[in-house]
Amino acid sequence: MDKLLKSKPVIEKKIASLSSKCLELKENDITPTMKVILVGKNPASIIYTRNKKKFMEKMGANCEIISLPENLSEKEFLSKVNDICSNHLVHGCFVQLPLPKQLSHIDVGGLIPAEKDVDGLNPINLYRLARGSKGERSLLPCTPMGIITLMQDYGVELEGKNVVIIGRSMIVGRPMGLLLLNHNATVSICHSKTKNLKDHTKSADIIISAIGKANFITRDFLNDKGNQILIDVGMNHDENNKLCGDIDLNDVLDSCAKISPVPGGVGPMTILSLAENLISAASRASRNIKS
Ligand code: NAP
Repeated sequence: MDKLLKSKPVIEKKIASLSSKCLELKENDITPTMKVILVGKNPASIIYTRNKKKFMEKMGANCEIISLPENLSEKEFLSKVNDICSNHLVHGCFVQLPLPKQLSHIDVGGLIPAEKDVDGLNPINLYRLARGSKGERSLLPCTPMGIITLMQDYGVELEGKNVVIIGRSMIVGRPMGLLLLNHNATVSICHSKTKNLKDHTKSADIIISAIGKANFITRDFLNDKGNQILIDVGMNHDENNKLCGDIDLNDVLDSCAKISPVPGGVGPMTILSLAENLISAASRASRNIKS
């Protein structure tokens, strides 16, 4: 049996329905439109934003990358974001991170209005998540949302399961914990100060790793039953500069039930969630125009 939780088949199924929703909106004179704000020339950010644009266009939406200079002042940056977000023809907007040093203190989540916040990081959307939303009336953070979609598509049960998340960042670990709670899982969030990490991971039904350390999780983090589900969020480079996750896939493959590979697992699911959020945002905007 194939143990790999690959994103490709999930995306192939979902893109068809997203494209038809996009077409329906266009027939009602709403072209789902996203603006991506990219400051500077970080090579990884350039690749990520291009991939996102390609996906949105494949679905039939408009997507423009607005490239701003590295040395942009805070005032210029805030004014630019404000201009972009106040355009009523823009349904979704996000700022590609990381920002250059002089802007890195800015909480970008708070800059994008909740109804256009396709990254799901606006405080209103995060509050709705904390209140129990599974995405019905709010836009969810993309990586956690993509992980839930991936697991659900492969029939992974969440209710009552013990999930251990490693990493407590604002974009992955923390919102992941909340979203899993909303799906009735029992959640532990571990981090660099957690004592006896292996005791936590060995007792989990599902382990989600978002640490950012190449091949950190090995077989000795797992139980002996071979029944655990492993989700690898990490996007790292190994000693040969090859893209790899936090989990040493070759080492754990025989000892787990299922595992999401890197590449081809969580990364593309994050982009799928961005597209789903854009369609939700444009659909809500279209309902507001009608009502
Ligand atoms: P981050 O902000 O750097 O957070 C890393 C987390 O890992 C921190 O909470 C840190 O603990 C914890 N950690 C570090 N070393 C640890 C250790 N030895 N034991 C236990 N916990 C440890 O990272 P992030 O932004 O969440 O990203 C994590 C990884 O996921 C990166 O590789 C990133 O590239 C990737 N990522 C992928 C996607 C995707 O779409 N596939 C999306 C986002 C991120 P402390 O809080 O105590 O420092």
